[in-house]
Amino acid sequence: MAALKIAGVLLTAASLVAAVPSPPLSTSVAETTLNVDVAIVGAGASGAYAAIRLKEDFGKTIAVIEKGSKLGGHVSTYDDPVAGKPFDFGVQSFNSYGPAEAFFTRLGIEFSPAPRVPLTQRFVDFKTGKEVPYVASSNEDRTAALQKFLQVSEPFEQYLLPGYWNFPAPADIPADLLLPFGEFVAKYNISAAVNQVFEVTGMGVGDIKKRLTMYVLSAFGPPMIRTFLGNGTIFTPNSRRNVEVYEKIQARLNSSLLLGSTVVQSTRSKTGHILWVRNHAACKYTLVRAAKLLIAIEPTKDNLAPFGLDKEEKAVFDKLTYQTVHAGIVTHPSLPVDVSLVNIPAAGAPTNYVELPKPDFNSRFDYMGQGADNFRVLLVGDDKFDTRKAKDLVAKNFKDMRKKGTLPAGGPDELTFKAWSDHGAMHMHFAAKEIKAGFIQRLYALQGRTQTWWTGGAFSHQFQAVLWAFDDVLLDRMLG
Ligand SMILES: Cc1cc2nc3c(=O)[nH]c(=O)nc-3n(C[C@H](O)[C@H](O)[C@H](O)COP(=O)(O)OP(=O)(O)OC[C@H]3O[C@@H](n4cnc5c(N)ncnc54)[C@H](O)[C@@H]3O)c2cc1C
Repeated sequence: MAALKIAGVLLTAASLVAAVPSPPLSTSVAETTLNVDVAIVGAGASGAYAAIRLKEDFGKTIAVIEKGSKLGGHVSTYDDPVAGKPFDFGVQSFNSYGPAEAFFTRLGIEFSPAPRVPLTQRFVDFKTGKEVPYVASSNEDRTAALQKFLQVSEPFEQYLLPGYWNFPAPADIPADLLLPFGEFVAKYNISAAVNQVFEVTGMGVGDIKKRLTMYVLSAFGPPMIRTFLGNGTIFTPNSRRNVEVYEKIQARLNSSLLLGSTVVQSTRSKTGHILWVRNHAACKYTLVRAAKLLIAIEPTKDNLAPFGLDKEEKAVFDKLTYQTVHAGIVTHPSLPVDVSLVNIPAAGAPTNYVELPKPDFNSRFDYMGQGADNFRVLLVGDDKFDTRKAKDLVAKNFKDMRKKGTLPAGGPDELTFKAWSDHGAMHMHFAAKEIKAGFIQRLYALQGRTQTWWTGGAFSHQFQAVLWAFDDVLLDRMLG
């Protein structure tokens, strides 16, 4: 692993993000200084959208500090050199919530309903590699359960979407929101919908049966339910490259971007901030002086280390826990074309729909269509589930299925990994006791303290369009 020397301290590449230089850097270390109205840290869905609006609609000067070499966060488009076609294995599509369609139009992106690859499902317990006699709920039962789910969750939309601005005070929180989802499902008899909730986006919350209903609604809430009931659209750019959205944004923000860079030290105050921003490839510092700071990265301990959190910020963020998510493209001649191999524990058969995989798990091997030999895997784990563990799990799932005869023998022993994305921390959540103790309100009370503002999944929900709608509310408050 590459080792770099920063301020006399040897650091491994893995520790760069968390690096807080010791001894502290002086301002003279920087070759360039930028003075801006707003510094934005992170240029995924929430940071990139906020940057466009701040620059073009509010006329603010901005600096966008992004760790990666390009914008887009969880969007992962694999331009397959052999098939000559794009394959999205991160973000699949955008839904017609809030400003999404207007934003595409503004960026000059033509779009249409997301294409679906028709797949036959086969259910396999990935813990053993054996096929399970699982019977998916019928379309009729699933639709009825989704309708009921919508009916009982719609009243909560005002508290949850596009963020928790109107979340009720602890004494007034509807009991349903704090029920473990398994109990909520039993209470409203909606188990026929659970498999779809899990397979589409709900799996991200981890152990869905135990996760609080309010967080399952954050991963598959009323807008998504409406879409699956035919009332709303899911779309992608006509190029079928989701990264086009962020390529267009990147071109418009060009001169405001500090790519391949992170904040390694900062001083924050009500009258303005100083950020030491390090470009890691060039080993160069830029000093960013900003009146306001917008943090658009997941608020993990490592990510926030350079921002010198105060006591209250630490107390709040310390209580957040999260899942980690990985996605990849694999290939092997034994994997069946036109099939989705779905991970279902043996206990889920034949119709025990709330029995679903628990972290760490790989949810599927999905054929990705277009006549190519690409299969998508999607994994969810705890905070220690890194790329090595995730890839090992995929390889093991595959080997077990071959061993048990679920997949045919022949061809190479190992799978080929064609593309991979470590999506890191996602689906941050508090435990019920903390929500009852007012932690949602304490989280939101951080907005604007020390002229520091927060956006992204931990403050809203894990959907592109919802985050854009959340930013619209946030920016009005920030600049109002
Ligand atoms: C596999 C997968 C599939 C998904 N599918 C969909 C879908 O189909 N539709 C949908 O609407 N949503 C989907 N989502 C969810 C959606 O992508 C996320 O909710 C959204 O991207 C979160 O946006 P964000 O701004 O909070 O974070 P991100 O998009 O993750 O952006 C954070 C950015 O900050 C950068 N960064 C991180 N740390 C630092 C640092 N220290 N300094 C500087 N920069 C940093 C990252 O490189 C990244 O660019 C999917 C997510 C995953 C993982």
